Amino acid sequence: MLFPNRIEHMEEDNADATFPHWIALEYAQMLKWAAPNKVIFSSLSPASVKSLCNRARKASADSSSCFGQLAAEQLAARGVSPDSFRAETKSVTDLMKEENVALDKVCLLDPRATGEIAPQDGKEFEWFLFGGILGDDPPRDRTGILRAKGFPGRHLGPIQMTTDTALGVTSLVVQGGKTISTIQFVDHPTIQFDEHEGVEMPFRYVVDDKSGEPILPEGMREHLKADMDRGLDDF
Ligand code: SAH
Repeated sequence: MLFPNRIEHMEEDNADATFPHWIALEYAQMLKWAAPNKVIFSSLSPASVKSLCNRARKASADSSSCFGQLAAEQLAARGVSPDSFRAETKSVTDLMKEENVALDKVCLLDPRATGEIAPQDGKEFEWFLFGGILGDDPPRDRTGILRAKGFPGRHLGPIQMTTDTALGVTSLVVQGGKTISTIQFVDHPTIQFDEHEGVEMPFRYVVDDKSGEPILPEGMREHLKADMDRGLDDF
């Protein structure tokens, strides 16, 4: 069964199409979680659509990409190819009209939904919709903007996940037949950089069954360390 996932981009998307690096890493990770299914990003700026597609096509590094500094070969190394995603300026509701998808056939992954995602939802819904939102701590319920459009919702448990983790967990359930209670999670893990330094992440992550570590977007650990070092330099 295909896993038709949609990411409604809801973070700032400035004219020069350089996403905050954090978003770039999460978006690249979503492509890995969703593979071999496409990820469709909607509500992007025209500049971001252009540079995202060029980036994935070109084998050259391109610092203005909306995947931040992720060079195309890094994307390629992650098994991300130009046909693993579609980038749209249209909103998810425009795409629904275009593709004749009824509101009650789009499942919004919503931390405040009453029902928990279940394997049978893979048969009930045609699309699975996520807010392309950087997790805030505490959550500001920006997913509520999508909820207000009337989508039926499902939650993934009581703790906030990053969008890439939410997409991965949804795929494990509706495609992999798992349930929330059979997936191994870690909550608020401390990402250790060395024996003295680390950072606590205010989210729930899937545990990699080989390493026992939280599954983070590739490059995120380095990004967090650089962020922390920058923060220390500011003192
Ligand atoms: N803090 C944000 C949510 C960021 S998480 C807010 O203000 O709402 C980004 C997206 O991942 C959410 O929009 C939702 O689609 C999904 N998500 C994250 N945690 C979830 C959970 N526990 N249950 C259902 N969906 C979740």
